[in-house]
Amino acid sequence: MAKKTYLEAACEVPIYDECDVLVVGGGSAGHSAAVAAARAGCEKVILMERFGYFGGDVTGGYVLMIPGLSWHGFNCVGGLQDEWFARLDKNAPDSYLCPTREEVGEKDAFKVERWDLIHGCVDPEGRFLVRAPYYEPTQLKLEFDAMVEEEPNIKVMIHCWGTKPIMDGNTIKGVIFESKEGRQAVLAKVVIDATGDGDIYRQTGASVFYGATKTTDVRQDRSGMTALVWRMGGVDYEAFMRWAKAHPAELLAFRADIDKIAGYRTFPFPAGQNDVVWWNNWLPNLNCANLEDIRYTEFTVRDSVRRLVQFGRKDMACARHA
Ligand SMILES: Cc1cc2nc3c(=O)[nH]c(=O)nc-3n(C[C@H](O)[C@H](O)[C@H](O)COP(=O)(O)OP(=O)(O)OC[C@H]3O[C@@H](n4cnc5c(N)ncnc54)[C@H](O)[C@@H]3O)c2cc1C
Repeated sequence: MAKKTYLEAACEVPIYDECDVLVVGGGSAGHSAAVAAARAGCEKVILMERFGYFGGDVTGGYVLMIPGLSWHGFNCVGGLQDEWFARLDKNAPDSYLCPTREEVGEKDAFKVERWDLIHGCVDPEGRFLVRAPYYEPTQLKLEFDAMVEEEPNIKVMIHCWGTKPIMDGNTIKGVIFESKEGRQAVLAKVVIDATGDGDIYRQTGASVFYGATKTTDVRQDRSGMTALVWRMGGVDYEAFMRWAKAHPAELLAFRADIDKIAGYRTFPFPAGQNDVVWWNNWLPNLNCANLEDIRYTEFTVRDSVRRLVQFGRKDMACARHA
């Protein structure tokens, strides 16, 4: 049955501002796009973000770990992402955990054994150290703030939700946004949709598909799964990992237990400090742009947190075998 509709009255939308480059979405991609545009000499960049901070999943989404910044002896990821950690080295050196730039590729048995407790910090065959930082998200938020504040060409618009492209034929001329000040528009020579979900792009009439590739069952890769990741304190993560490595069969049973208790696939990862774990999770065949799927994810994961904490306290196999 066709959905009922409501005919919205035509109205004049105030032009809040105009710029050369408008970036909608201040996650790692949008923030980097804005900083790069400003540093390249763009006269006026606007960075519009629906929440009150930058970083998106990397900070507020508690994604907490950046994998594979090095391989063998090479620090192979540079640019703005390396700058995040160079800034943390200077301003908050204890806020992230991984082998140092100088240590990458090292094969020293003691170091390999130590870092092998931290997922991703040793290559999968257990041969050499890899730079895969686990960081404190609030510290990174502070650096993201500073990076835009250092660029006078960037105007920040936080708590502003980009809702609709302003089109002239096939060309995008700006974006309508909603905020506490009401519905307004920003006009721009170039618009970059960095919303992570293509919020603006998919309304332009351009072709859209879900997933990283069309050749796989796209609903089964990360883009076809939702998550609500969370942190839990009061643990000894390295003790857990030492147990996990010494008891592979029990680890499999542990994984099955927690998935059953949660009702979805989940696993505790390191979180940058030994007494905190990061519960990553994967809820398949859900769409992060579908309201019912979003509700299901939030409620399902939150509802499981007490059960997982209880399991961790009383019944975790590593505790029974300690
Ligand atoms: C549970 C999970 C675990 C992951 N684990 C890892 C990991 O361990 N390591 C890793 O490297 N990657 C991981 N990833 C992938 C990584 O998080 C993403 O690749 C990365 O965050 C994408 O960055 P982005 O800037 O494109 O999007 P996002 O981080 O989603 O940023 C989008 C930004 O746009 C804003 N926004 C959205 N819609 C609008 C709108 N309409 N108007 C204004 N602003 C808007 C959002 O608030 C957000 O700030 C994980 C992803 C998930 C979901």
